[in-house]
Amino acid sequence: MKTRLWVFGLPKDRGRALKFLRDAGYEAVTVGRDEEAVDAIAREGLKAHIVLGTFSVGRRNLQGEEFLARRLDGVPVKWFGSGCPNNPQVRAVSLDLVREAASMEGVEAIILDGIRFASPGEGVESFMTCFCKECERKAYELGYDVSRMKRSLRELLKAVGGLTSSILRSITGWRSPIDLLDLLMRYPGVLEWLRFRADCVVEHVEDVRKVLKSVNPSCRLGAYLFSPSLSYLVGQDYRSLAELLDYVEPMIYRVCGGVACLNFEVARMAFDIYKRGSNLDQVDVQRFIFNLLGLDSEPKETIEELKEGLSSRVIESETRRALNIAGTSKTVPILYLDDPLLKESVEGALRAGARGLSFFKFSEGSEGALKAVSELVKERE
Ligand SMILES: [Zn+2]
Repeated sequence: MKTRLWVFGLPKDRGRALKFLRDAGYEAVTVGRDEEAVDAIAREGLKAHIVLGTFSVGRRNLQGEEFLARRLDGVPVKWFGSGCPNNPQVRAVSLDLVREAASMEGVEAIILDGIRFASPGEGVESFMTCFCKECERKAYELGYDVSRMKRSLRELLKAVGGLTSSILRSITGWRSPIDLLDLLMRYPGVLEWLRFRADCVVEHVEDVRKVLKSVNPSCRLGAYLFSPSLSYLVGQDYRSLAELLDYVEPMIYRVCGGVACLNFEVARMAFDIYKRGSNLDQVDVQRFIFNLLGLDSEPKETIEELKEGLSSRVIESETRRALNIAGTSKTVPILYLDDPLLKESVEGALRAGARGLSFFKFSEGSEGALKAVSELVKERE
């Protein structure tokens, strides 16, 4: 069976880029809400996907603090250019954008980006959101205990503050998820908070799907999701989301410099624990996090060095996890194109069983890498 190849973005010379993609065997291109680009992609015989920043507040009267997520201490925070995922106006604008994009001539799919809550990569204070009035009201309605959530999160922060090397070592090295139960049961409100965030994301994706299908029944719905080891931390429950999505695109980036990239997220988590604890060892902290997340990578001498990237093995193991949960037919992992170990990464994803691969991103000068990928994929078929 042929492996599907997709790409995010187009360089300036669109005509040339599209011809190149078609000749190299690429099937779909993701762009923003750009009618001309969508039209050009469709005319070249490729599938046009439109990406939408789901909870973005950079547009349409969503500029005030009242649209932002709230930290435990009530301070408003913007994360990934987004507002509170439960704010009614933020959600209404999101649905309007879906309606507009799905109505465009030639669009094959809408891909949701930022369909989540804040990630650990934003720093622990922004990560531990949202406690705005809307969220607290919704949590209450859904039967969650907001004061228990807050209490547990504060207790967890306090416990991290009291972490010593010997405690950290004693809670590292799980052989089975059952080993984690004791630790998790100490913070029941943290589990509630994570489940609450996941419920809210599922609810919005349900609404998006209804709107999308009402304006364009043949248009597909996809999403750029966090890699499986991180997804639950940001409110993305693969199992439920896979039922609502036609395309699941896990962002399995082992080396890059922003939120959602595995190395960036892990480094920020490690740094936040390291700086709060007392005299912790940087290697121990990394090992603890890899163990907690189930990430197949080796600690570096310092946390700073994680910026160079995680082992290329994580591509294979994370792809396997995504395929297991969301299914092979709809899962198309998106990999980082500017990866010095691109060949190893692609081979890992194929070994894990991926039947489609997407790449971030196609910019000026990416043709060589994109061509190498398509040749590699053909060789393996
Ligand atoms: Zn909120």
